[in-house]
Amino acid sequence: MIKPKLPALAAGLKNKLIQQALERKLRQLDTERDGGATPLIRGVGATIPEDFYRFHLHPGYKQIRIIHDGAARLGLQDPFFKLHEGNATDQTTIGGQTYINYASYNYLGMSGDPVVTQAAKAAIDRYGTSVSASRLVSGERPVHRELEMALARLYEVDDAVTFVSGHATNVSTIGYLFGPRDLVLHDEFIHNSVLQGIQLAGAQRLPFPHNDWRALDRLLEEHRKTFERVLIVLEGIYSMDGDYPDLPRFVEIKRRHRAFLMVDEAHSLGVLGAHGRGIREHFGLAGTDVDIWMGTLSKTLAGCGGYIAGESALVEHLKFLAPGFLYSVGMPPSVAAASLAALKHMLTVPQRVATLQARGRFFLEQARAAGVDTGSSQGLAVVPAILRSSIKATQLSSQLFERGINVQPIVYPAVPEKSARLRFFISCLHSEAQIEQTIEALAALT
Ligand code: PMP
Repeated sequence: MIKPKLPALAAGLKNKLIQQALERKLRQLDTERDGGATPLIRGVGATIPEDFYRFHLHPGYKQIRIIHDGAARLGLQDPFFKLHEGNATDQTTIGGQTYINYASYNYLGMSGDPVVTQAAKAAIDRYGTSVSASRLVSGERPVHRELEMALARLYEVDDAVTFVSGHATNVSTIGYLFGPRDLVLHDEFIHNSVLQGIQLAGAQRLPFPHNDWRALDRLLEEHRKTFERVLIVLEGIYSMDGDYPDLPRFVEIKRRHRAFLMVDEAHSLGVLGAHGRGIREHFGLAGTDVDIWMGTLSKTLAGCGGYIAGESALVEHLKFLAPGFLYSVGMPPSVAAASLAALKHMLTVPQRVATLQARGRFFLEQARAAGVDTGSSQGLAVVPAILRSSIKATQLSSQLFERGINVQPIVYPAVPEKSARLRFFISCLHSEAQIEQTIEALAALT
């Protein structure tokens, strides 16, 4: 591929120029596309601007086109929606070629593990492929409760409830439990699903600087009294940065200010702690130190969906009243069975957790030694290579792809332009040789 020569413009200015050029092009395309084809509308309808009834003029769509057309003009390969032709582990097959794969969060290799696959197949044989109703009415199957009780045991709390989507778990839980008289404080790097939940709740929202418990404490000193319920939301391992909070500090603060604490364990389950029980095991905390344990089934647990674990009053509440549970179908038994099998299996193979932690550390050390900016990553399943330019991240991802390495760029608007990056997900299946090959390629290209 020919590398386009870009003048050394500041990223902001460069993006602005691309944006202006593309907006001109879009205006021209819009004129050409319509070519007077739209019939003349008379009456009230004639006064409604086209922007309000045409999808191609929706601001989101325009932004996507600007980004895609800009990438195409610069000769960049589209890094999205790559077709993986088999199970994605440390390797994956795309277009008939095998790649070393860092784009999947199959941290403990449970997706594709025969134990997990067999459990899913047996559940299909017994229950079919769908429960065909909300759990509350006629969608309940034994495997749902078995999975939830196993999750409750994992956190040593009363109970757990599973939702059909991890994203919807956060949206529906926060959206249902909190309201306009409440405050949600969250780490500035919190996942989008939490932000969406806060928006749905209509609660006030205050971000605090990444992992900064002192800043959180100050915010609570100032604002706690103004609100009724206050929720603090953290991640067990941050999904973009691969670091984790000093959880005992946050527990002490939430107790002092009489707030609820919620921890999203999406990337921490299977990764932190000697047995992969997550950040709780890492710090040796009690399950009851955190009010709302949230996690996803889509990473270590080789399924799809999310869970909330905590006291009975919380779980019962959600099962009867959270719209994302109540008005949504029960999880397919095959998915619940796969995640249950993965969870049970995880607890019997601590060596996989140890290998994952060792490979993550190895990746981080090698990357740092090669001068890669890995930010605040602790080498726990997620290691970014921060490039500070969406164009550079996309180019580098495509150059690595040409060398047999599949890693996804994370670009604006998913992250601010100044933190555009490649994000490497490490699995316990990666070998040191694969990691060395990757870092060599990365160093040669940067
Ligand atoms: N929380 C975090 C921290 C995540 O990274 C994600 C997405 N991977 C979710 C929630 C949503 O989970 P899911 O993709 O399983 O819907």
